[in-house]
Amino acid sequence: MSASDPARFDLFIAGREVPSSSGERTTLTDPANGAAIASVAVGGRDEARAAMEAAETAFRESPWAADDGALRAKLLRKLADRLDASIEAFARLETLNMGKTLREARGDVAYVVRTLEYASGLADKIEGTTIPVAGPRFDYTVREPLGVTVHIAPWNYPLLLAVRSVAPALAAGNSVVLKPASLTPLTALAFARLAQEVGIPPGILNVVVGPGRAVGEALVEDPRCRSVSFTGSAEVGERIGAIAGRRHIPHVLELGGKSPVIVLPDADLDRAAKGIGFGIFGNAGQMCWAGSRAIVHESVRDELLGKLRAIAEKTRLGPGLADGTEMGPLVSAEQADRVLGFVESARSDGGTVVAGGGRPTDPALAPGHFVRPTVLAQVPSSSRAVREEIFGPVLSVFGFEEIDDAVRIANDTRYGLFAAIWTRELGTAHTLARRLEAGMVNVNESPNTFPQTPFGGVKDSGVGAEQGRESVLAYTRTKNVMIHLGAARKRGGGP
Ligand code: NDP
Repeated sequence: MSASDPARFDLFIAGREVPSSSGERTTLTDPANGAAIASVAVGGRDEARAAMEAAETAFRESPWAADDGALRAKLLRKLADRLDASIEAFARLETLNMGKTLREARGDVAYVVRTLEYASGLADKIEGTTIPVAGPRFDYTVREPLGVTVHIAPWNYPLLLAVRSVAPALAAGNSVVLKPASLTPLTALAFARLAQEVGIPPGILNVVVGPGRAVGEALVEDPRCRSVSFTGSAEVGERIGAIAGRRHIPHVLELGGKSPVIVLPDADLDRAAKGIGFGIFGNAGQMCWAGSRAIVHESVRDELLGKLRAIAEKTRLGPGLADGTEMGPLVSAEQADRVLGFVESARSDGGTVVAGGGRPTDPALAPGHFVRPTVLAQVPSSSRAVREEIFGPVLSVFGFEEIDDAVRIANDTRYGLFAAIWTRELGTAHTLARRLEAGMVNVNESPNTFPQTPFGGVKDSGVGAEQGRESVLAYTRTKNVMIHLGAARKRGGGP
């Protein structure tokens, strides 16, 4: 079956496509119109166990972990190249399953290609150190793979966020069990097939679809699980962190956000408006690092608000696969209802809807989970629309007079994933970047990241970081080896 044929998908364990032992399957639907798109096997605890077993066996018996890195570098590069040649098929599958525009999905898959290339480049550069110590001793460290690593991914960037942690774990010589979100497993399953085709040994990459509570927790609780990378909600992240803490295994948690975007009076307002629009309406706002709170100097607030309203109103909604669509539907009916619930609570708390605020009126879009790009103003800071992550195309705009007020408003959140600053003043940008409680700060751009730059948050946004050189090292453990070289010779002694 090719990636462009989404009709039937099974789990991927030990290099084979297998149904679940219970025979359970689910039918996935296109978020743009509700049409059935795929039948997918739904695994349970038995499949979680089987995948862990396969991964553990492959880790011990295949050449993957024992390799000096050259084989892993070669195969990851080959995988990158094969995916590069299949961008269109993978992008269509992602759009069909998740709803994002084809343009966005193409960008996601290209990012995955680049992530694999980057990981491939590091696979044969995982080095230890030598450490000077007293006496006739030689001390060195080696970086060893951890074993079986578990990866739990969300539905908003299904393939991108899965491979973001899977690629460095593979580069470091681990074997992997991936659990994609139940709503969006298709590209992960197609990716596993591709990995098999390029020669990644069976059992090194396994994909189990199934309910998070049962399958996800079974994977992390399994004694063979040596690390977990979780991307998703803060609530589930807390559970995963508790299990990982109890089991003494390393964990990376990439959780939610309520990211501030500060606009100073000297900013290029056209660029800022465009960047803010991209940062909250892109991917229909379903982004952990969405710039959902614009904090704008009073002197330019009305002008910027006008520009943001214009962007929101001219954004063309439609099915992700249709030409000219600028924003697709939300992933599910539940997600659309949830987002509109936040808009209602902002309204009833005294907020003003400057743009959007509901579903589109076009009857052709009625069967899809569409929400119009929404701009809110005057929402009290106590409103749940300001305090909680909305995870949809909803921006709240606030004003400030003094820079200290901007910093206070920006940091007044449980989250600390990302922040953006718009200013031409370099000194102000650096000073503000230091004062903002966020794992990532963009200046005059929002948001942007690369596979080589760390991605992670502080506060309730998570622990650790994905991407960058350190992400590969995070999937290794350091072993120290000290050798006593025998009794010290007398000074001046010959060989
Ligand atoms: P969830 O936390 O509900 O789910 C994420 C993943 O965890 C899914 O695969 C889900 O499986 C699984 N899961 C659910 N419950 C458990 C459990 N008890 N044990 C183990 N795994 C479980 O988040 P969403 O999928 O709803 O994603 C949206 C959230 O993710 C937002 O809050 C967003 O901010 C955050 N996010 C953070 C990112 C970051 O990089 N910081 C990036 C993207 C999203 P199932 O689908 O079967 O429920």
